[in-house]
Amino acid sequence: MEAALYLHVPFCRRKCPYCDFYSVTVPPEEDLYLRALLKEARLWREHLPEGLVFVTFYAGGGTPSLLSPDFYGRLLEGLAGILRLHPEELTLEANPEGLTLERLSGYRRVGFNRLSLGLQSLSRKGLQALGRAHTVEEALRSVEAARAAGFENLSLDFIFGWPGQSLADLEQELAEVSRLSPEHLSYYELTPEEGTPLYQALRRGSLRLPEEDLLVEMHRLLHERLEDTGFRHYEISNYARPGRECRHNLFYWKARPYLGLGPAGASFLGRQRFRNPEDLGRYLEALRAAKLPAILEETLSQEAAFREAIVLNLRLSEGVNREEFRSRFGEDPFEVFAEEIEELRRKGLLEIQGGRFRLTFRGRLLANQVQLKFL
Ligand code: SF4
Repeated sequence: MEAALYLHVPFCRRKCPYCDFYSVTVPPEEDLYLRALLKEARLWREHLPEGLVFVTFYAGGGTPSLLSPDFYGRLLEGLAGILRLHPEELTLEANPEGLTLERLSGYRRVGFNRLSLGLQSLSRKGLQALGRAHTVEEALRSVEAARAAGFENLSLDFIFGWPGQSLADLEQELAEVSRLSPEHLSYYELTPEEGTPLYQALRRGSLRLPEEDLLVEMHRLLHERLEDTGFRHYEISNYARPGRECRHNLFYWKARPYLGLGPAGASFLGRQRFRNPEDLGRYLEALRAAKLPAILEETLSQEAAFREAIVLNLRLSEGVNREEFRSRFGEDPFEVFAEEIEELRRKGLLEIQGGRFRLTFRGRLLANQVQLKFL
């Protein structure tokens, strides 16, 4: 059975004001972290379903590019001796600051064949509003360096809907993006997460997000412009050239198995969901005591797994495939949810195409509400 392997790198130079991903701003101790990860993988080996083969590897974070190519070389070699690791897609998330050609060539050499660059914006105004550590020039240089280092599968990450952004700002950015010609794009709407400095600034009223109508226009512009320039809008926030969809993330969206190493790493195996503590100290402590840091969060019943798979599949533009669900769960989603599907179709939020149902453009804007109907 195929599975995805995720590594959480819990280090950042500094915290961005909108971010609620787990990371700490201490300098990474590579040897210590490497030993802990290999120990974690060895402990997991006893618990993994038989025959699991990891076909993707994804280093996310945090800021994975704070760790050296040598770290990843040793990690991948170590993991290959512990797990059945035959990755066809190896992704590294990277931030533009400090990303030299030499460092990128090193990542390429140790096996990464996909780079996901966290540019977030291509305007000074945008980078400032998002509190990012890099400049527009560094962002552009990092794309050039990635190509020079031999990355032929490049994803660029952006955020839209930041305070002060206009439709013209987004149009200008999209023109620049088209010039950079990446294989994959992520465009996330800025969401204020409770507890972040951004959230507090919005509550205080010292910052304001764009109005609802403008956000809808931004969604529309992204969808139309990117589809016109050869991208396929394959997931709510993701666009790819044909065949360049992120294989790793498809494991999440299709509710397929994955293992997450490192603090805050999440795993989904069989019908069980595990999560590592969001605390580097506790994570390392558990491993020092030769214990798996993962906590079993939930064991899904057959019905809950069926519902959850529908909710996740709805994120994809291919939607929910009747035959796939019948053979996987022995149940027909069109029959189980006949009423809900009809109601959502009447409201223009779902459309039916052959043996599938999927979100419409409006449905994507209200995805959370649609998904609730299936839970
Ligand atoms: S957005 Fe990225 S770089 Fe900024 S704090 Fe979060 S994980 Fe770190």
